[in-house]
Amino acid sequence: MTFDEAALCESLRKNVNKSGYVKPTPVQKHGIPIISAGRDLMACAQTGSGKTAAFLLPILQQLMADGVAASSFSELQEPEAIIVAPTRELINQIYLEARKFAFGTCVRPVVVYGGVSTGHQIRDILRGCNVLCGTPGRLLDMIGRGKTLMFSATYPEDIQRMAADFLKTDYLFLA
Ligand code: AMP
Repeated sequence: MTFDEAALCESLRKNVNKSGYVKPTPVQKHGIPIISAGRDLMACAQTGSGKTAAFLLPILQQLMADGVAASSFSELQEPEAIIVAPTRELINQIYLEARKFAFGTCVRPVVVYGGVSTGHQIRDILRGCNVLCGTPGRLLDMIGRGKTLMFSATYPEDIQRMAADFLKTDYLFLA
């Protein structure tokens, strides 16, 4: 498989070119067609072998093909893909790659990790996020615990809908 054969949409292809990637690495060459076909994949390849693009490109391509990312930001975008890595450094690297490849498209990656307050990260997700990158602890905090406290200066309708979906808590409105 070449990058041309990967049938990436125009903007994704442009961003791959801009990154200076001419030829797929082996994990990309073999991995991208499997993921693009909708099959599950467990891949083991050395550090520096290009694993990040091997899973990011088909994920981003799929989101764009589905039109998930085509809606405007007036409609709240919810995470369609979750990427997990064990450390803050690793997940940040993946997030930066995702941003690089998603540049100029409506796909919006967001990163969450522990060791910092959740407030900014929650606001970032609520602004619209279709690729959520995170470390396991903080992701569980955000997704599973269902106890997220939300503090907001404004409370637009889409935030109300999101809060109704995710929060199992009381609401406090102060004038
Ligand atoms: P990774 O293993 O995903 O951390 O990638 C290691 C390095 O290789 C990163 O700097 C990537 O930007 C770069 N890279 C990944 N795929 C390619 C490719 N097909 N051509 C050139 N560089 C690449």
